[in-house]
Order: sequence, then C-alpha cells, then structure tokens
Amino acid sequence: MSGLKGMVPSSVKRRAKLLAYQGTKYECPFCGFKARALRPHGHDFDVLKQRDVVGGGVRPSRCFQCGSADRERLIFLYLRNDLRLLDHPEATRVLHIAPEPRLARALRKVGFTEYIMGDLHAEGYSYPDDVLDIDATNIPFAADSFDLILCSHVLEHIPDDSRAIRELARVLRPGGTAILQVPISANTQDTLEDFSVTDPKAREQVFGQFDHVRIYGQDYVDRLAAGGFTVKRVDVASKYEEYGTNPREELFVCTV
Ligand SMILES: [Zn+2]
Repeated sequence: MSGLKGMVPSSVKRRAKLLAYQGTKYECPFCGFKARALRPHGHDFDVLKQRDVVGGGVRPSRCFQCGSADRERLIFLYLRNDLRLLDHPEATRVLHIAPEPRLARALRKVGFTEYIMGDLHAEGYSYPDDVLDIDATNIPFAADSFDLILCSHVLEHIPDDSRAIRELARVLRPGGTAILQVPISANTQDTLEDFSVTDPKAREQVFGQFDHVRIYGQDYVDRLAAGGFTVKRVDVASKYEEYGTNPREELFVCTV
C-alpha cells in the first residue's frame, strides 16, 4: 500500500489539498482561488508579540493556490481600486524594489510605460534575469525618474535606512507615489535598533527575523519625513478583508 501511495502524482495531491481549502470566505485577487482559510505563515518569535508587530509574526496570510501574501494583495488592491492606476498605466514609470512574485507578475501585465524591478543581489542567491541588482542606498537612476515606487519589507534589512529613504525620495518625481511598507510595532514609539546585534540567531530574538536590523516603532513616519517624504497613513485594508488582507496593516503612502 505504501508503495502505491508514493505513486500518487503530486499534482493530484495538490488538487486534493486545494479542494479541502475551497470556500467562500476569501478570494485571491491574483489567482482567483476562493478559500475558506488562508495558509499560516511568518516567524514565531516572542519579541514580535511583545511589540505587537503588524506585518510580523505567524498569521493566516498566504493563498493556498498561488502563495500570495496578505501584504502584496493589499498593495495590489490599493493600486487597482483606490488609485485606479491599472486603468491608466500609460505615462507611469514604476520602480519595484524586492518585487513580490505574484504582485510583480500582475503588474508586469498592466502595460506601464516602464516597470523596473530591482533587488540587492546577495551572494549565494539567484535572481530572475529581469530583476536588476539595485542597492536601495545607491539607486542607479536620475532624480525624478519614477511615478510609482513600491518597496515593501525592505528597509528593516538595511543598516543605513535613512540613506535608502533619501534615495527613494530622490528618484520619485514630485507628485508621484511611493508605498513604503515595513513591519511596525503598534505599541512602541521608538524604533528598536542595536547594530551590535549581528548574529542571525540573536537577531531573531531581538528583531524577530535573522536578517532584520531593527523593529520600527511609530516614529517610522518621522524617519520617512526626515528623508524628504510627506507621509499619509492609509487605512483601507479592512475594506478588502474578503481578499485576505490584514485589517491592521496600514499603507505608508509617501509623496515628495
Ligand atoms: Zn492566489
């Protein structure tokens, strides 16, 4: 029997698993999968609970079919339904830093004038050919190059985040929009930062992830402002709960 079990193709198993999660509670805006639940995902460290980190910690967040995350769905829905950018992609130059796969796939099809993806190419990792090696602290584009910048869950990895923020502000054209998301503590004002903590295991305990260098507090907005942005905290996630967004996640919508 066990031999037969091993012969069931993985695609069949996958379909059976998907069927088990089919339902009416959520609909994925990327793949259309209708689900009764979201797949739990995230890092489980005490500090994330103690600091009530929105966008961190284990939570039901992923689409069972395509794997999209709550936060990429929120950005997509905001662009599509609130900004209506997908209806008028012409004359829109987009920079997408550390592109989330499902969001990037959807945005690539939109027909923006320019859609540039970039990520800091780390040794030992491979990147798709169309993801350029871009260091957010030294962005290789002229001032005012982009109408829309997406940069989600990146700044908490960068030691010199103030430099990255200034760079993002520099390449955004006046009147353009930057959506700059980070995991953020709901119950602390001051960002927790300690550059003496470099060991990955220690970072997990202190910052909640092996490669994070801080946990932002509510002063995140001041940091963005110090880098040249005017910041609007946009609370639209609760109206998109049927698409599996995190109702507590605010968007940090920035202009220069
Ligand atoms: Zn999906």
